[in-house]
Amino acid sequence: MVVGVLVEISSQNLDKVFDYLVPKELENSIKIGIRVLVPFGKQKLEGFVLEIKDSSEVELKEIYSIVDYDVVLDEELLLLGKQIQKETLSTLISAYQVMLPKALKAKAGSVVKKKFHTFYRLQKNDYVATSSSQKKILEKFLDREEISREELTSISSASVSTLVSKGVLQVIQKEDYRMKYEASQDVKKVLTPSQQKVVDTVIHGSSLRPYLLFGVTGSGKTEVYMHIIEEVLKNHKTAILLVPEISLTPQMIEQFSSRFGNQIAALHSALSEGEKYDEWRRIARGEANIVIGARSAIFAPLKNIGIIIMDEEHSDSYKQGDKSPRYHARDIAIWRGRYHQAPVILGSATPSLESMARAQKGVYQLLMLKDRVNGKQLPVVEIIDMNQEARKSTTHLTPVLIKEMKNVIQKEEQVILFLNRRGFSTFVTCKNCAETIKCPNCDITLTYHKSNGMLRCHYCGYATVLPKVCPHCKEDALSDLGVGTEKIEEELHKILPSARVLRMDVDTTSRKGSHKKMIHAFRNHEYDILLGTQIVAKGLDFPDVTLVGVINADTSLNIPDFRSSENTYSLLCQVAGRSGRSTKSGKVLIQTFNPNHYAISFVKNHDYLGFYQEEMQVRRKLGYPPFYYLCFVKISGKDSKYLLSETSKIKRSLDRNLTHTTILGPTSLAIFKVNNIYRYGIILKYKKEDNLKEVLSKVIHHYKTNHRVRIDIDFNPSHFS
Ligand code: ADP
Ligand code: ZN
Repeated sequence: MVVGVLVEISSQNLDKVFDYLVPKELENSIKIGIRVLVPFGKQKLEGFVLEIKDSSEVELKEIYSIVDYDVVLDEELLLLGKQIQKETLSTLISAYQVMLPKALKAKAGSVVKKKFHTFYRLQKNDYVATSSSQKKILEKFLDREEISREELTSISSASVSTLVSKGVLQVIQKEDYRMKYEASQDVKKVLTPSQQKVVDTVIHGSSLRPYLLFGVTGSGKTEVYMHIIEEVLKNHKTAILLVPEISLTPQMIEQFSSRFGNQIAALHSALSEGEKYDEWRRIARGEANIVIGARSAIFAPLKNIGIIIMDEEHSDSYKQGDKSPRYHARDIAIWRGRYHQAPVILGSATPSLESMARAQKGVYQLLMLKDRVNGKQLPVVEIIDMNQEARKSTTHLTPVLIKEMKNVIQKEEQVILFLNRRGFSTFVTCKNCAETIKCPNCDITLTYHKSNGMLRCHYCGYATVLPKVCPHCKEDALSDLGVGTEKIEEELHKILPSARVLRMDVDTTSRKGSHKKMIHAFRNHEYDILLGTQIVAKGLDFPDVTLVGVINADTSLNIPDFRSSENTYSLLCQVAGRSGRSTKSGKVLIQTFNPNHYAISFVKNHDYLGFYQEEMQVRRKLGYPPFYYLCFVKISGKDSKYLLSETSKIKRSLDRNLTHTTILGPTSLAIFKVNNIYRYGIILKYKKEDNLKEVLSKVIHHYKTNHRVRIDIDFNPSHFS
């Protein structure tokens, strides 16, 4: 027997299937999609078996061993990998590796161990106990088949051993998964007529076109998802629910686990490698049939999928943009939906322009939830013009906002304060010469971490102590600009000394379980104000929050990106949606220097469609998506002169070969140098260019063995960096 094996070779750009002989004794265990260990030059590498053949003409080496006897890549995933390779121009091996948890990738760094748990089963029913502890042990088996070791040895471990040696008890090793979900007192809600209509449409409708579920914040989308999933499970099918990492709050997981118990598996970054490995295998073995997870959960090895839901479909976290394969989970969702003939739901209160445009054209089927459940009003939004207010106040909090906070706290209701950190960093600048301190390896301003007095580069990890004087002019005039949550917390303590403030950001939630604790504490009214960054903007559902304050709406508007208006609108809408979700009505105060910008003014009336129309006009005028497709070609290398000359060659070759495409650039990227690597970008704009992939493949191929130039291709990029 001969097998074709795909291995990952980091040092070479080889993406090829190599043939190996299978030793006789392993032949019976060989299946397509398992991992094997093979010799490769002087190395031992892991790889995936992709082909099984009878023979080969050339002389071959033998595989060493089989890594795991279970298939890690089933037929569907094998096919999907080829699709990803074709669509994103990635290597096949990277397309497969991205589907698997670290522990199951070929050539895993660390081997994650399975955990086992010992149980006993009664073998002989007619054995007569010879001691009281034996009797006690045997009595346990009157109403149960299997009993754990702990429970029995707590009676007497000597008796357990005796019973085992006499063949009365049989030892069973069961794999012990690290994650457990318990169903609890969950109140299933009676759906409103409009929620019911959505559920019925999806359950009884066709799965040919994806659904775009456009539902305002608090319209009960989550409840709709749960009802649909329940229906799907009744038909013995399975479900995937994708949510952005940031919405994968303990709240969300608790909600699903209390309704569905151990049927769910959750995949997210807070899990250890071992936990991810366990969750993955529970799914593969059919022991969990609802997968909830962030982007890569779209590759969950579920069989017989009956529904795929992508919540907050506008979120850019669904696009993997920083490494190959640069895929969008939405495309994968639609592909898998088609494979299983399962409906796909894209849900959002602020759909991406691309998706709404597709819904308008009928490519997607539009479903709407226009109102909050039980007719609750959307919160009243007031815009505070900082051009007027900033002069009056000495803090980042305007008198209007402070007054409203006092008011709410007095009524024993709660406040969420949102600090928009998107495209924002706390940096140090010199008041004398106005220079900022930059990273020596990268062309980027260092971020100041107040807690330990360090300056850190968020690109390469370079860190240094904050100098006493300015490195440029030697004056003692360095000061930190910009505002972080710590600074606002300080201000709150001065202005509202009796208010209890809970600060939630990357720093305070990094410890395992701390996020969950904080959410519980806030829900239990141990705090009055929840202050945070993006982490408080999405998905949280606290009934007593009646005021949301946005401290700086503008920072995300100032990013040089054609999506900055869209991102700002959707962020503000999401955070506004945290207010007044229960019986009490809510209010939102937005502090901004751009009160008349449409990305901000349309938030006032919760007018998504108004924003959509205005933004579509801008996109049409400038020739951006959804009117045109974009493809970003990044060219990088250490030698800036050589790189520039090669970049120009690439540009000329694209010019010659792409006739229906506008070619922008090359330009140096916003951050030209990262970790001593220089970067150029070329942007391709097109409506239809049939040989685009072929032309780009040739460029990639041309540089495959040239280590001085690296080419990265990103179709439909969400960032240009
Ligand atoms: P969305 O995800 O659309 O923002 P949620 O699903 O979080 O909204 O629902 C908002 C709130 O309304 C939640 O507290 C939820 O439990 C509640 N809710 C949802 N559907 C119903 C219903 N049919 N009846 C009563 N309450 C509901
Ligand atoms: Zn750096």
